[in-house]
Amino acid sequence: MSVVSEILENKGGMVLSVDVNESVLDAINLMAQVNIGAVLVQHNDTISGIFTERDYLQKIALKSLSSKDTRVGDVMTTPVVSADPNDSVQQCMETMTTCRCRHLPVVKDGNLLGIVSIGDLVKKMLDEKEIEVEQLSHYITGTY
Ligand code: AMP
Repeated sequence: MSVVSEILENKGGMVLSVDVNESVLDAINLMAQVNIGAVLVQHNDTISGIFTERDYLQKIALKSLSSKDTRVGDVMTTPVVSADPNDSVQQCMETMTTCRCRHLPVVKDGNLLGIVSIGDLVKKMLDEKEIEVEQLSHYITGTY
């Protein structure tokens, strides 16, 4: 089974983040611009938390708070659960199931290498299954 670093090799290690002192409006503007569901919240190059669409729904929209006047640092989720680059796709899925989340930063020795979403993991798993089916069908038909 593939490890999560292979996903990062394909999609790259870009991680979009905002500073704890930026507003929720800044965070959701960024998320909307690049069509992503989560941003990391950092301060002085350190991961402080994570802010996702669900945080916006539960902590801002449902409470009728102003996204312009609320610091993202006040509504982010902390601590952040992360993955190791050598974690398998299956391990990451288990981690996401346990923490009921869909985004995992990938961290090695304190360095942020990238972020994977549940969509990245599902895609990798489907690609692997497709290769497996192809190999089995070659094996069965003797065309390998
Ligand atoms: P998501 O399913 O990723 O939108 O996240 C659901 C909830 O889990 C939100 O409150 C997020 O802030 C939180 N969350 C998402 N990813 C993580 C993570 N890697 N570590 C900790 N909390 C997270």
